[in-house]
Amino acid sequence: MSLIRKISRLSARHLACHWIPLQQERGVISFSFDDVPASACHQGAALLEQYQARGTFYVCGGLTDGIEQSQPCHSVQDLQRLACNGHEIACHTYAHRNCADTAIPVLQTDWERNQAFFKTHQLPSTGFAFPFGAYGLLSKIAASRRFAYSRITGGGLQTGRADLAALRAQALYANTMTTEQIAALIRRADQQRGWLIFYSHEVSAQPGPWGTSPQQLETALRLASESRCRLLTVQKAIHYFQHGDEGD
Ligand SMILES: [Zn+2]
Repeated sequence: MSLIRKISRLSARHLACHWIPLQQERGVISFSFDDVPASACHQGAALLEQYQARGTFYVCGGLTDGIEQSQPCHSVQDLQRLACNGHEIACHTYAHRNCADTAIPVLQTDWERNQAFFKTHQLPSTGFAFPFGAYGLLSKIAASRRFAYSRITGGGLQTGRADLAALRAQALYANTMTTEQIAALIRRADQQRGWLIFYSHEVSAQPGPWGTSPQQLETALRLASESRCRLLTVQKAIHYFQHGDEGD
């Protein structure tokens, strides 16, 4: 990473923050999927629904009907069915861009293209996740002007307060995350009334390095639903932390 990018990244972490307090009665656990392989729309959503949970799906319109990391991606019909069933659809850029590397005018055009894609297909969408979790100060500010919130990666959970311009999320990857680690994070979210946002990609019995398995996802859902935490989409979690209810 170049020095300028390092400085931009470091300053982005501490500047242009939009804090909300995490001080409701219960903690929250959110499940999200980036790029949105077809398996996340099918097996992933079905498992969530078995536990009365709904997920947040960060979509690149440029990946629709395509292949990403050897995984078949979502179709428009998949996304419309998810939205109908109460899941959240959100933006992940149109072309899966690294926002730390992209000039802001190019990024604005890309975001507009993805928003037009959502509009064409009647998909409500207000949130955003940075591809690769990559952002700088300028892209953080630009995203926070356009979207209701932005999610990054970074690992772990947030307690006490959360930055709506850079919500921290934890990878749920079958090859690197143990059940004990998942259980410990859920316990912390519960005890400290914090917010744990999981993210993954495909849901497959033999996932690649960035995917989860049905067994792992089900274990995380079971542990989450056995805790006192609420299971909410990212959008509804923000409403809960701000107002004490989930909104519409
Ligand atoms: Zn991505």
